[in-house]
Amino acid sequence: MLISDVQQTLTRQLERIAPIIDELGERFTAAGHELALVGGPVRDAMLGRLQEDLDFTTSARPEQTEALLKGWADAIWDMGRAFGTIGARKGEWQVEITTYRSETYDPDSRKPDIDYGTSLVADLQRRDFSVNAMALTVPERGFEDPFGGLVDLAHRTLRTPGRPEDSFSDDPLRMMRAARFAAQLGFEVAPEVVTAMTEMAGRIEIISAERIRDELVKLVCAPWPRLGLTLLVETGLAAYVLPELPALSLERDEHHRHKDVYEHTLTVLEQAIDQEDRLVGPGEAPRPDFVSRFAALMHDVGKPKTRRFESGGAVTFHHHDVVGAKLTKKRMKALRFSNDQIDAVSKLVELHLRFHGYGDGEWTDSAVRRYVRDAGDQLERLHILTRADCTTRNQRKANRLRRAYDDLEARIERLSAEEELAAIRPDLDGTQIMEILSIPPGREVGAAYKFLLELRMDEGPKTPEEAEAALREWWASRS
Ligand code: ATP
Ligand code: MG
Repeated sequence: MLISDVQQTLTRQLERIAPIIDELGERFTAAGHELALVGGPVRDAMLGRLQEDLDFTTSARPEQTEALLKGWADAIWDMGRAFGTIGARKGEWQVEITTYRSETYDPDSRKPDIDYGTSLVADLQRRDFSVNAMALTVPERGFEDPFGGLVDLAHRTLRTPGRPEDSFSDDPLRMMRAARFAAQLGFEVAPEVVTAMTEMAGRIEIISAERIRDELVKLVCAPWPRLGLTLLVETGLAAYVLPELPALSLERDEHHRHKDVYEHTLTVLEQAIDQEDRLVGPGEAPRPDFVSRFAALMHDVGKPKTRRFESGGAVTFHHHDVVGAKLTKKRMKALRFSNDQIDAVSKLVELHLRFHGYGDGEWTDSAVRRYVRDAGDQLERLHILTRADCTTRNQRKANRLRRAYDDLEARIERLSAEEELAAIRPDLDGTQIMEILSIPPGREVGAAYKFLLELRMDEGPKTPEEAEAALREWWASRS
């Protein structure tokens, strides 16, 4: 990329936000303060991907910032005064204004220690990467780039402002951020930064699980997750934050040939991303879906533990779905994901193999109903994962699997239309069961309900009379 191209893109993108930055800049300078657009929006404007979030840095203290925003912004809120940040909305724009900082990280505590800084350059110096350490002073639009961010951006490279070892010592989370930005921007990480990440990977352990999780989610939801994940694995960071991933690189030996599970996993992830349009309405632009992506990443994590070498050279991974679902739960708990996310991802991992019993359409209607019911609200994602989980180079085999899954989906459609599959209930409810059998509420009613539900799965809907007859017969056979 040429620097002149970068400048042109920047100028064009600034047109969009000219009113905002001019008005705000004038308000702050009139009150004797400095204000500059900084970090993400400057970088993104140069890359032609400016979003609605505008971050500023200022010499004004939070209470002064708040006073200056009053009467200008549509809404103002406190983003945590302790961090010196005031948030505001003006039309479609989200503005965050942070007082200059010079931040140091105390490795013995988990809290960043904040001192307000006195200059723009000092504020830029404590930032993570040179491409994030550029500023545009407003309203005059002076370009501040003390660490060569523009050149690094043109070369699509992530580099720390100072020595990477010092930067990562101050805040080890920056190692995760390097991988995250690589994935978001499609940038390379400078070799000296990779070296520091490799040497210092273990320092990530002082960072809270929540902060690591947030970076991991951004990385996985980025346009180039493979870049970020590869970096995590190659530097050894993954061994701390997501050890199940590097563990997939099973050593292969010449007698027991099987696919490289790690490489397969990255491909499955990309093939799942390619199907994200299935998760939005027709005509809507696809959005990154964390659950679907993370399920793709974790679907085979049960393989290393379950690998067995059979006599004759075959390799098996029996029950790697169940084992993988357990490992997934454990990892996601450790990373403090919500229960909903944990349930969704681990369910997908657990069900990702189910379809392989389908053959050429051998399933009974009952098996199809169970598939739908067990997948519940994850059914669409299960379709994505199962289809993505085919990375064979054998075109005939791939076509056969695709056609079989097409067939399964068509059957699900047909059965759903006929039976409202997703909401399967027994043909009789609890009250009816108690009436027919003349029994009080209790365990027997539960058992009868379960029997009718199984029957409903196996044989499809029945008339009330048929259901009653079946219930009576079951009841008689029990006593
Ligand atoms: P996005 O908002 O799209 O995720 P961003 O660049 O705005 O990208 P943020 O995490 O919002 O990233 O951080 C805003 C800015 O603050 C960054 O551009 C960077 O300059 C600085 N920054 C954030 N976290 C750190 C950190 N841990 N160490 C150093 N600088 C940081
Ligand atoms: Mg931001």
